Amino acid sequence: GTERIYNFSAGPSMLPLEVLERAAAEITNYQGSGMSVMEMSHRSKTFDRIFQETKEKFARLMGVPEGYRVLFLQGGASSQFSMIPLNLISATGKADYAVTGNFSNIAYKEAKKYGEIHVAASSAEENHTYIPTQDQLDLSADASYFYYCANNTIYGTEWQYVPETGSVPLVCDMSSDIMSRPVDVSKYGIIFAGAQKNLAPAGLTLVIIREDLAGKELPYTPLMMNYKTMIDKDSMYNTPPCWCIYMLGLMLDWVEENGGVAGMEKLKKTRAGMLYETLDQSRLFTCAAKPGSRSDMNVTFRSATPELDAKFVAEATAQGLGSLKGHRSVGGMRASIYNAMPVEGVEKLCDFIRKFDAAN
Ligand code: PMP
Repeated sequence: GTERIYNFSAGPSMLPLEVLERAAAEITNYQGSGMSVMEMSHRSKTFDRIFQETKEKFARLMGVPEGYRVLFLQGGASSQFSMIPLNLISATGKADYAVTGNFSNIAYKEAKKYGEIHVAASSAEENHTYIPTQDQLDLSADASYFYYCANNTIYGTEWQYVPETGSVPLVCDMSSDIMSRPVDVSKYGIIFAGAQKNLAPAGLTLVIIREDLAGKELPYTPLMMNYKTMIDKDSMYNTPPCWCIYMLGLMLDWVEENGGVAGMEKLKKTRAGMLYETLDQSRLFTCAAKPGSRSDMNVTFRSATPELDAKFVAEATAQGLGSLKGHRSVGGMRASIYNAMPVEGVEKLCDFIRKFDAAN
């Protein structure tokens, strides 16, 4: 087709049309440089300006305080599953993990290679349909850090509070809800995110790190997995993902034009509120996540049967509502409604849900 669809993909996911159009306008000749950002040296003056401005914009929008560094890395959020224990576990040899979904479970298993890892909470016995409360966290006083995943992309659950861990540094995977709500960065040791859901194309991994946590890596830590290497070289030890960083810059301008992080939070509440209300009022559909743990980013739901789910997805696709099939491990449906999803897209989805509910 020639029309753009409303794309509910969990990631990589949709980017605002304005951002894509600006990238298109600059793609062969970036601001009179005679070349595309894809073609220029990462050490050039032109790219250095893009890099520094993007880093500053990101830090400003996230409210990154003194004593923290913003890193633009590669290897996806998954590389952080190794990088975190490699760099942080040496403090006590131990760490606490909250296992609330697929990705925190992978992170937990990876960390076990490097130290004594304690499961501070697990929602596995209830198919990861809820987020543990503060009271349910079994915290160790001597953990090097406490690890959790703020939003569980596959299960559609999201932490509605910041865990209290005393002096134990918080490490958080914000891959699927970064910049969708205000975050008090000073409460964290490390925040990281793959950029491909809320902020940019795939290939860029965002890290905010409290500077004093770096430099204590295990002796065999690969050079490229050492936060200190990347801090010392301002993420330019090697060639960074230049194009993705440029695209992040365009996206951050768009975020600013749309009310900044507070604006993103307002939009996400509108989108998620509308969708959950429509699903709750339907006859046919049930939401997977328990109330109080529901994600504003990934809304997971199902109808009465897998056959009806398949019919829903097929008919929605024909209406220009794309990528609504749930993750292969859980089935059902999933609507990922990140920063770039227009409210209008969710309105269309809600209309479709109501029609499908009446007709089936
Ligand atoms: N954490 C979360 C919460 C995710 O949703 C994903 C990807 N879907 C990952 C980590 C893994 O990210 P990547 O593919 O960038 O390694």
